[in-house]
Amino acid sequence: MNAPTSAQTIFLDQLMGELGPVSVLAAADADLVRHGHVPDPTQAVDRTPLAVAYPRSTADVSTILRLCHQHHIAVTPQGGLTGMVGGAIPGAGGLILSLERMREIEEVDVAAATMTVQAGVPLQAVQERAEACDLFFPLDLGARGSCMIGGNIATNAGGNRVLRYGMMRELVLGLEVVLADGTIVTSLNKMLKNNAGYDWKHLFIGSEGTLGITTRAVLRLYPKPRTTNVALCGLATFDDVLAFLKEARSMLGGDLSAFEVMWKEFYEVAVQIADGPPPLEAGYPFYVLIEALGSDEQDDGARFERLLERFITSKVVKDAVVAQSAREVEGLWAIRDSSGELDRVFGEAVNFDVSIPTGNIAAFADDCRSRLREALGGGEALVFGHIADSNLHLSCKGPDGIARSGLIDATVYAAVRDWGGSISAEHGIGVGKRDYLPYSRTPSEIDLMWKIKHSLDPTGILNPGKVLPAQRSSDS
Ligand code: ZN
Repeated sequence: MNAPTSAQTIFLDQLMGELGPVSVLAAADADLVRHGHVPDPTQAVDRTPLAVAYPRSTADVSTILRLCHQHHIAVTPQGGLTGMVGGAIPGAGGLILSLERMREIEEVDVAAATMTVQAGVPLQAVQERAEACDLFFPLDLGARGSCMIGGNIATNAGGNRVLRYGMMRELVLGLEVVLADGTIVTSLNKMLKNNAGYDWKHLFIGSEGTLGITTRAVLRLYPKPRTTNVALCGLATFDDVLAFLKEARSMLGGDLSAFEVMWKEFYEVAVQIADGPPPLEAGYPFYVLIEALGSDEQDDGARFERLLERFITSKVVKDAVVAQSAREVEGLWAIRDSSGELDRVFGEAVNFDVSIPTGNIAAFADDCRSRLREALGGGEALVFGHIADSNLHLSCKGPDGIARSGLIDATVYAAVRDWGGSISAEHGIGVGKRDYLPYSRTPSEIDLMWKIKHSLDPTGILNPGKVLPAQRSSDS
């Protein structure tokens, strides 16, 4: 890398002086690859970050941001580095701020049903601590062992149980953030009702580190479910899927916790990845994984089976397998969770996370596939998603793989725009989707986002280049 400029050296000396040398590693001493830096000697411009800082407290984060603000050093906040859109990729000459050493669970308040945590606590540690207190933290996603609560908040993470418990936004009651100039703003609120003025925490949830850095949070816990019922069903048409969803919502009420739909091409790949024989034969156009989490050990299982029987009798559900043990529950979920390893069988693909109004999802998927075939002269797409949340995932490749990934992106996002959908359902924007933001947001919405950005980060040091596309010249 290029040697730091004298201004950067002064900044680094001050930072090390205030935080201590064990909390700051200069680029030469840090494992930058672990922190998302991709060295590229073919690039004319050096993209190497300046250093990595590992704060241990909110006060440390405040010190770091105060100095970055004074010296105009860009900051890339990082959690578990499991994001899907490049939101944590560090910038050239900037500081990486890793929250991995802030991993204390500070308190579980059983009466309030809350847990107060630092930003670097892994999601799985929160789930396990809640469980140990006979409580439940419902956010769940494949990266649970590595992703951190701060990143879940920064991206407003979704996952498999949004249908019942909402996204991360609904699971955060209190927040502490550090602003761009180092100011600490703390509201570790534990109350469900609190209308005392603007609920500012929502500005930061989902802002991908561009407005402030979350250091601590109060999370909302739920009673631990006493029963789990899971089935995998084969269906013939998307209208049948929608009818099944409607009735499942009605019969299972608030217990319905997941309704995952897999198109047949996805299922055929997924059963090759998951261990053991396929739970249902291949060939149904749609597969639904349905889960209910309940509290009535006497009746929940019977009610779940009644729902399935009704739909099997009316031939809406062509075949179904109901998990009879915790191991079988895991086995059925493994089919759906193989989405993280599709490339082992399907090969490298371009992955999408989009939203489309639920009733239009199948028509959108068909249209998207035919547009891709036309644009690329062939290709394949695996389709699956949380359709009750209007959220669809696609893994797409052309006849020559992902050689034309830019064209695949442009084709899919144009279809999303034309169907009135969102280019990001649960993964965020980062750098990967930034240029397509105008497909899902109006110019006045993006102008408003810039006004918020300028007011909270006037010198533009917080995760620059992420989320917002270049500002229109009339605004500058
Ligand atoms: Zn998902």
